[in-house]
Amino acid sequence: MRVLVIGAGVGGLAIANGLAGNGHDVQVFEHSEALRTTGAGITVWSNGTAALRDLGVDIEASGRHLSSLRSLTETGRLLWEADLGEVTERLGSPTVQIARRALIAEMAAALPSDVLHFGRRCVGVVEHPDRVVVEFDDGTSATGDLLIGADGQRSVVRRELLGGEPAKPTGWASWQGLTRSDLPVAQGHQTLNIAGRNAHCGLIPTGGGMLHWWFDMPWKEGDPVLSVADLREVFRGWPDPVEQLLASVADDDLGFFPHIRHKVPQVWGGARSTLLGDAVHAMPPAVAQAANQTLEDAWLLTQYLSDVDGDLASRLRAYEQERRPRALKVSRTAALTSAQRSTPLQRLAKFPGWLATRSQVASLRSGSNVLRGFASRPAVQVA
Ligand SMILES: Cc1cc2nc3c(=O)[nH]c(=O)nc-3n(C[C@H](O)[C@H](O)[C@H](O)COP(=O)(O)OP(=O)(O)OC[C@H]3O[C@@H](n4cnc5c(N)ncnc54)[C@H](O)[C@@H]3O)c2cc1C
Repeated sequence: MRVLVIGAGVGGLAIANGLAGNGHDVQVFEHSEALRTTGAGITVWSNGTAALRDLGVDIEASGRHLSSLRSLTETGRLLWEADLGEVTERLGSPTVQIARRALIAEMAAALPSDVLHFGRRCVGVVEHPDRVVVEFDDGTSATGDLLIGADGQRSVVRRELLGGEPAKPTGWASWQGLTRSDLPVAQGHQTLNIAGRNAHCGLIPTGGGMLHWWFDMPWKEGDPVLSVADLREVFRGWPDPVEQLLASVADDDLGFFPHIRHKVPQVWGGARSTLLGDAVHAMPPAVAQAANQTLEDAWLLTQYLSDVDGDLASRLRAYEQERRPRALKVSRTAALTSAQRSTPLQRLAKFPGWLATRSQVASLRSGSNVLRGFASRPAVQVA
């Protein structure tokens, strides 16, 4: 089958690996002139590493294994600590923190050489009973048996296939970066989350002495975009090593993005098309699952397209129906998490380590298809 994929981000590269591995003729079209390798770090949880392993992409050598997830209040009081080593044992796959550019590079390197096409911006989609045609802004087009929209938050493919409203702001934003750091946390394997009354931050070792750090605060269109000097004021007096980190970074290190959330539709495409990743379920970063849910999509769609017998549209709808409830659940949790971190209950409660670990396992399982395995799913009729 000839498969056209729009977007060479995390989702586009993941599905291209899965489908190329199944013997499909996959062509990926990206509007940038090269792979987009900016961004900070990505936490690939057990569900994401399991998906990548099955898709044939190995990130273990390029990232940092995480062994613990620690949550503090802004006064430095420990709220809970989950043992990610035990999460790995229970779920059979590790948690790896990796620079986004390294993840993109690993996935691109695993593809055959003739799959990626740059400088091709999709502007239109026309579905016919026997083929699907994608139009590009340079006047060219491509024809395939199937189209997969992996073109991210402002997906043109979604707009063309489904119409509807663009993703909505949640009222929060992140200031983040990935910098080389001498702080001990950068050399370790522990993620630190600190929840304040009206602001949160996190520090995550990303391997090779690199540290991914983020600061989340309420923000709406028209509000100022804070500088490093502003962040030093807001986070003055926070637990170590927040002040040391902010003293060591500059405005050039700072990336800013408002949080958005997209309604997850019931159906994600037509008879010869579907979506994956942020194009269908853009969500805020609060539970660090956007990329993992995207890898889940790519993994499940690969399973449904592992052979070409049966009706394509039924397979696409089965993939969407199986994936949707889990992606929706994670998206809802992500939307609630920023606000709930600040509630008195969250701030006063202290959970024992075993409970934090078990709830991490339960939450990863509940948002995952890959951790349940494809063979164990209820049989889907492919007419
Ligand atoms: C430059 C960049 C930096 C990011 N940094 C981070 C980060 O630091 N931490 C984090 O957790 N997440 C980051 N993300 C988001 C993260 O990659 C996604 O949330 C998640 O991985 C979902 O992946 P996706 O493939 O759906 O979307 P994306 O990874 O956003 O990929 C979408 C791709 O589609 C391309 N595209 C868009 N429109 C068109 C079009 N019309 N025609 C052709 N191609 C098109 C884009 O250029 C992009 O390469 C970043 C995304 C980008 C694009």
